[in-house]
Amino acid sequence: MHNKTVAELSRDLESGQVSSVELTRHFLDRIQQQDSQYNSFITVTEEQAMAEAEAADQRRQRGDATPWTGIPFAQKDIFCTRGVRTTCGSKMLEPFVPPYNATVTQRFEDAGAVSLGKTNMDEFAMGSSTESSYFGATTNPWGERRVPGGSSGGSAAAVAARLTPAATATDTGGSIRQPAALCGITGLKPTYGRVSRYGMVAFASSLDQGGTMARTAEDNALMLNVMAGFDPRDSTSVDQPVPDYTADLAQPLNGLRIGLPKEYFTDQLSPAMADAVQSAVREYEALGASVREISLPHANLAIAAYYIIAPAECSANLSRFDGVRYGYRCKNPEDLLDLYTRTRAEGFGSEVKRRIMIGTYALSAGYYDAYYAKAQKVRRLIRQDFIDAFDDVDVIMSPTTPSPAFVQGEKTSDPVTMYLEDIFTISTNLAGLPAMSVPAGMIDGLPVGLQIIGRYFDEARLLNVAHQFQQATDWHLRTPND
Ligand code: GLN
Repeated sequence: MHNKTVAELSRDLESGQVSSVELTRHFLDRIQQQDSQYNSFITVTEEQAMAEAEAADQRRQRGDATPWTGIPFAQKDIFCTRGVRTTCGSKMLEPFVPPYNATVTQRFEDAGAVSLGKTNMDEFAMGSSTESSYFGATTNPWGERRVPGGSSGGSAAAVAARLTPAATATDTGGSIRQPAALCGITGLKPTYGRVSRYGMVAFASSLDQGGTMARTAEDNALMLNVMAGFDPRDSTSVDQPVPDYTADLAQPLNGLRIGLPKEYFTDQLSPAMADAVQSAVREYEALGASVREISLPHANLAIAAYYIIAPAECSANLSRFDGVRYGYRCKNPEDLLDLYTRTRAEGFGSEVKRRIMIGTYALSAGYYDAYYAKAQKVRRLIRQDFIDAFDDVDVIMSPTTPSPAFVQGEKTSDPVTMYLEDIFTISTNLAGLPAMSVPAGMIDGLPVGLQIIGRYFDEARLLNVAHQFQQATDWHLRTPND
């Protein structure tokens, strides 16, 4: 049962071959038996899940089911869930039980999906390995002591271990695509503004975007059908019609123009990774696509610009955690200043503190123009590079990550090496473009991903391009065990 896709499970529920109660019980049992190895969940909502499953079965009998009615899924612990603790991987929010649902959560609830619980993540989504979680690191099901990537490592590991058929995630600089690649699953970061950020704990508001993780492109399309759309409660959400993202999956790829950025394929890219991408590209040529080299001249500035802009925004967003309103509060404060400083010193982990300090510095008088304003100008140049490139091509392809999953602890002492994990993913966040990661090979027994970047709001095409690849290859069907 756990090897089936969302699309297959949805058909089984529809035909009455299985009930949501049976399905939900099955996944809850797997979580209970196996998750001690992975630590992919922070909170499992067993009782609530079983109640939702019963309600879903009744709804199906009444004849008003959606494709999601009765389908179990998991939610990154960054989405506010009414009555269910939402920690964002931090001690700061350990006791926080939101009184409302994030829009994404609400939409799955309205569709009748069954939430199994909340998945582990890097603290406040800052990281690339899920090692900075206050609730302990998540382990990649593909390799003992290997990281699952991050920050959505819990969602990716849970899908890869088939503890859930699908999971929500967020991506500020790569946090959907990089863990999807390292765990051998399929993930999509939509266009900025496509999915509501309401109720999604903010890290860097101009970059954060909610998205999807599942084993196939088709399942990502089914997820996006639920998640996408205008939300008056998020002023950055875009009022554009939502297509049926499954409608174009079967379109042939004849005439598709693929661009390969020359800046990404240098001798610094490992030969094994270059080979994996080249074979994927050959597969696309066999499917009727043409390939050309393109240039993204400012690609080498993306990491530097991001590590000014993201910390600047995070330092402002995280100022709300002051021990007064909600979340953690230090014991016996002497006065207001002591309350603020000790709450923050005790409540945040070291990566979050590092970012707040960098961001505060970059925004301070005298440095603002030199760092923050400069980074914003670079951001505009990076965006323009993509706009120019898309004059000649329909999609851009690259590796998702520089290498497969690394060993836990390998990069924790050197933040800059950790930051380089996102070298291929970060510029699309700066530009606001949609991008996917699709399983595209194995290196030393570990999965690697192909990144596919599209034009603004071209998610349907990305999903089509990914789906056609998955009709021709079986990388997405490989599983780490049983
Ligand atoms: N790894 C990047 C960072 O630490 C991106 C994280 C994310 O996308 N949330 O900022």
